[in-house]
Amino acid sequence: MNFLDKLKSLFTDEDSSAVVYWIYARCRRCGEAIKVRLDLKNDLSDRDEGGYIVHKTLMGNQHCFERLEVTLIFDDNRKLVDQTISRGEFITMEEYEAYQIAKAELPKEEIK
Ligand SMILES: [Zn+2]
Repeated sequence: MNFLDKLKSLFTDEDSSAVVYWIYARCRRCGEAIKVRLDLKNDLSDRDEGGYIVHKTLMGNQHCFERLEVTLIFDDNRKLVDQTISRGEFITMEEYEAYQIAKAELPKEEIK
């Protein structure tokens, strides 16, 4: 570890809570809302063009087994600049929470 890296780690260790990014997505097949935690310190890879890139495969807890392929692009300041998803769509935190509430209120089919 060189001097610059040491200096950087000194500062970045301070705000470890600020480097978490949540991905919210909805499976196109079953409609399940999925939340995945991203560690902006460890999960990102350097990009040749500058900034960072991360690939994630999201899978819900239900039984559809669809895999959502997510690619996120961050700039040098670890700010999200672009995102793509396959077999699903990005949703907001509010939409994710609305889904969780709706799911909790729905009677389970197995109980019938
Ligand atoms: Zn699904």
